[in-house]
Amino acid sequence: MRARAVLEWRISGRTRQANALVTGIGATRRILLTDTLISALSEEEVEALVAHEFGHCALHHVAKRLILQGLVFSVIFFCLNFAVHNGLVWYAGENLGWADLNLLPGLFLYWTCGRAYGTFITGALSRKQEKAADLYSWKLVGRVEPFVTGMRKLSDLNLIVFDKGSEWRYMHPPTADRIAAAEEFRKAHGGTIASAEPTFATGSTSNQEKPQ
Ligand SMILES: [Zn+2]
Repeated sequence: MRARAVLEWRISGRTRQANALVTGIGATRRILLTDTLISALSEEEVEALVAHEFGHCALHHVAKRLILQGLVFSVIFFCLNFAVHNGLVWYAGENLGWADLNLLPGLFLYWTCGRAYGTFITGALSRKQEKAADLYSWKLVGRVEPFVTGMRKLSDLNLIVFDKGSEWRYMHPPTADRIAAAEEFRKAHGGTIASAEPTFATGSTSNQEKPQ
């Protein structure tokens, strides 16, 4: 797996929120851990969350998200262009096309609506990817307990509570669902997880990039 570095992101001066994330693609890929996360969670819990980020890397989630986002934007711009050239924009003058400044309010409205629909699509992909990265983490670490306790601490720190009803607005599945899925996975696989993929949990990835 290629990731340039695991970096500590110092945000404790501004907030108590904690987060781990992967950013960039290819050679620019980095994993960021906030200092709040590193200080609040145990080493094993941090490991479980880093394994989740490794899942995003190994499964090429950032690239897939970028491609989908690009497609969504292309569709929105295609529709806007069609609307402009066919006089479908509210308030527009006659035959000025894109040069018409009166287009602005109507275009802004369409853009906002397009973005809202687009978020449904990208959010659905994003939540699917989070679930896949969770699964990757449990297999990689070989057990789910540190993930579960780490997630509990994270949701306490971030004060983010949401349920199925408001799920569509977020890029992550509800924390309770993720913990429940982890428990399910443990019940289904029991002690066999650890021996399933033993080669991943050892070696260079777990030692060399320990954040300080
Ligand atoms: Zn994630």
